[in-house]
Amino acid sequence: MDGMSYWLLRCRNALLTLSDTSGGEVFPRGQAADFGEPKDALLVGEWRGLPCHAAEIDGLPESFPGELTPLRRIFSRAGAEAFALAGRATQLLDWRLNHRYCGNCGTPTLPKRGEFAMACPACALLAYPRLAPAVMVLVMRDEELLLARGPRFPPGMYSALAGFVEAGETLEQCAVREVREEVGIEIANLRYFHSQPWPFPNSLMLAFFADYAGGTITPDQVEIEAAAWFPRSALPTLPDRVSIARHLIDAACRRTAR
Ligand SMILES: [Zn+2]
Repeated sequence: MDGMSYWLLRCRNALLTLSDTSGGEVFPRGQAADFGEPKDALLVGEWRGLPCHAAEIDGLPESFPGELTPLRRIFSRAGAEAFALAGRATQLLDWRLNHRYCGNCGTPTLPKRGEFAMACPACALLAYPRLAPAVMVLVMRDEELLLARGPRFPPGMYSALAGFVEAGETLEQCAVREVREEVGIEIANLRYFHSQPWPFPNSLMLAFFADYAGGTITPDQVEIEAAAWFPRSALPTLPDRVSIARHLIDAACRRTAR
């Protein structure tokens, strides 16, 4: 690990970032020794032509010109590319922390060379970083969009519906089930939009458009406390631009604007 590299250093669930990000730099750069030789650094990618390592640290390096930034704020401070890299690093650090012991026999695991896998030396079980696929659906009815809010959303904010894919389920089945369960609406013509890794903590969001096919909005009052049809010209507060939910809703609005 000699040589220059960028460092994604996590301390108390936030990432070490430079105070001055005006030049486009956000993560510190240097040699391992500059940051106290972090233990078990993971090579998580490249940033501006240099390798990028991630590691946990106990405290800020001495006289470091920076601060701790929660993952959610990386997007607003440094943009989508830095957020994606920070999200990947965070998920890999979480995965390693959560797989220190074999889930089958309890033996301490060891990192497997050459890939992201924790291996059990006793029973050979391999534990890979775990992703939880989730389906997001924006239901459309003529000029209106079905938006809903969960109890923990910021006041006034609405978004598209979303839920986790269950074992044995296709994405299409998940979309139909989630919309039916959460708001009592039937859908048709599911159309794929885009996907986004969503590192809170380990989702992969797969976003779709769908058309209304029947039913009356009936929020389940557990995951969804309120839902309504909104005209595209009068939308409520929407999720932040970092999220695929916002991209999905914006794309639906551009379609009509034509
Ligand atoms: Zn084992």
